Amino acid sequence: MRRKLAAGNWKMNGLSGDLGVLADLAAAHGEGDVDILICPPHTLVNRAAQTVADGKIRIGGQDCHAAETGAHTGDVSAAMLVDAGAKWVIVGHSERRTDHDESDSDVRNKARAAIDAGLGVIVCVGESLAQREAANTLDIIGGQLSGSIPDLVTGQNLVVAYEPIWAIGTGKVPTTDEIGEVHDFIRARLERRFGAGVARSVRLLYGGSVKAGNAADIFAVSNVDGALVGGASLTAADFSPIVTAL
Ligand code: 13P
Repeated sequence: MRRKLAAGNWKMNGLSGDLGVLADLAAAHGEGDVDILICPPHTLVNRAAQTVADGKIRIGGQDCHAAETGAHTGDVSAAMLVDAGAKWVIVGHSERRTDHDESDSDVRNKARAAIDAGLGVIVCVGESLAQREAANTLDIIGGQLSGSIPDLVTGQNLVVAYEPIWAIGTGKVPTTDEIGEVHDFIRARLERRFGAGVARSVRLLYGGSVKAGNAADIFAVSNVDGALVGGASLTAADFSPIVTAL
């Protein structure tokens, strides 16, 4: 049985004064059977990890470089995230693909480096509005899956997040049928490539304008094992009801 996962992506938000959110979440959900992951900006990873040490909340990075070390000013390696206390890293978020021109093969190399360093990876995929309107959604997702996910993944070190670009930060959400269609497709593609055992154990998250008010409907969709939440993960007041809805 796949464990439910509520993951928060703080994006470029958060200063040390915001780490109290973690204690609030730990107090509210210390006993639950939902896994909770918070991915703060790199500057906070170490302090966040120290804050949640021994608790059930895990801390992740939002990106890593594909190389172990080297002349890459401003970048962070997977081993550095591990050293700071991270257990997971998001790779291939659409904001990275857009802002930093990351290709599927860039994402695959990052994911491979992360897994080699002992991190779990959340690989993000998702179509633009133009691609959905042209009825190309499944083709796009299929291409991103085969291009961005490295070989040798397992149900323990891979999570896939479906984040339609047009739903991120917009308040727009696909219908539950649309979410279900893509999540069923992702599961089937994983099975074709990695076999039923791995495919059945990989958790699939939906992301894009998840809020307290729509979380329960989204989580009722088959093959939705949790959420990757942006804006509504920044406060415990917003994130906690999403965790509870799982
Ligand atoms: P929002 O929840 O703010 O729409 O962001 C979703 C997202 O991009 C999470 O990675």
